Amino acid sequence: MNCTRHLTILGSTGSIGVSTLDVVARHADRYRVVALTGQRQDEVLFEQCLRFKPRYAVLLDEAAAARLTVRVAEAGLEVQVLQGAAALDFVAALPEVDTVMAAIVGAAGLNPTLAAARAGKKILLANKETLVMAGRIFMEAVQKSGATLLPIDSEHNAIFQALPAGYKGADWPTSGVSQILLTASGGPFRNTPLAELKHVTPEQACAHPNWAMGKKISVDSATMMNKGLEVIEAHWLFNAPAAAIEVVVHPQSVIHSLVQYVDGSVLAQLGNPDMRTPIAHGLAYPERIDSGVAPLDLLKVATLNFEAPDFIRFPCLALAYQALRVGGTAPAILNAANEVAVAAFLARKISFLEIARLIAEVLAKLPSCTVHTLEDVLQADAAARVAAQAVISPV
Ligand code: NAD
Ligand code: MG
Repeated sequence: MNCTRHLTILGSTGSIGVSTLDVVARHADRYRVVALTGQRQDEVLFEQCLRFKPRYAVLLDEAAAARLTVRVAEAGLEVQVLQGAAALDFVAALPEVDTVMAAIVGAAGLNPTLAAARAGKKILLANKETLVMAGRIFMEAVQKSGATLLPIDSEHNAIFQALPAGYKGADWPTSGVSQILLTASGGPFRNTPLAELKHVTPEQACAHPNWAMGKKISVDSATMMNKGLEVIEAHWLFNAPAAAIEVVVHPQSVIHSLVQYVDGSVLAQLGNPDMRTPIAHGLAYPERIDSGVAPLDLLKVATLNFEAPDFIRFPCLALAYQALRVGGTAPAILNAANEVAVAAFLARKISFLEIARLIAEVLAKLPSCTVHTLEDVLQADAAARVAAQAVISPV
């Protein structure tokens, strides 16, 4: 089969977006880029427009969109520049688009990713926050529209590959799967003396030992909130209870995750730590295409280590398990408080250790409510942001 796929890349100016375009460029005959989006990086988006000639380019920021409109006209490109959050939903649901890469960071990704789900697209899901905030609503939208959901987060992509072929979320636990083993690198502070953690800078937190990523997910990896969010993501993707999802620290990031079966078999997916592998898997599924990633050299890797996660050093991981067990709006509250805390840490308003304290305080303050509609999720998100800001700068 070699029919052209038509793509919208939400968050094309970010780390996952750029890696997606790298894979797409290797297969110009298979993929046509219809829409690209970013927050305010008009320079990067202009270069992407020059190269990939999409029909639409969307920026959230008004001034950046105005600059891009001028540049695009000067260059004589036939690209329509759109601005604002509604335009993200619009390009996620375009009739001529069949595949949507959801790679916006944070809660801002929820609405456009949901729009893609409701429109029945093939969704390549990098934006884990969508599932953390609104897992039930999103999964129901996918089922109702007949959308195809493919996980791009490397761990979930690995689990997807290691699950029985044709596994549907509802199969748990009848499929013979007993446990999901989610690997974690442990981030840059796995061995840092605890006393030094309070002095950690944003630069140190963003210097991940194995992966080059956006700033927010890099800080999440340093606190291990990223793994906590991924536990919740795995719960929704694979219909697995919290007790069946175990985190295993594996510093080399070569095994991207594992699935254990009732007969004692354990299946893993391995590869070099490069997001182009899961991206290429999602783009071509169920076929396989070249991703540009070097083959894994097991002799060079030589040793694979495993450790139990340290819940004292990484309280964010325990908070995420707690939010998953509580259910309802608790994961949305956790996610919003985390986004505010990470932004405050990156702006040097709070220390590294205060990130977890702030989230714990907000979770303790706000009750979890049942999620009936998207509005319930959005209200919980807004209330958690207000509560988190109040902890940072009390009135
Ligand atoms: P990034 O910060 O590098 O890029 C984020 C993208 O979202 C950019 O295009 C940015 O312009 C856009 N964006 C940010 N705020 C926005 C807003 N308010 N409205 C519209 N667009 C906005 O982030 P990333 O590292 O590429 O991560 C993207 C998503 O993928 C995250 O949810 C992250 O958890 C997930 N993910 C990333 C990696 C990785 O290796 N980078 C791995 C697994 C999962
Ligand atoms: Mg991951």
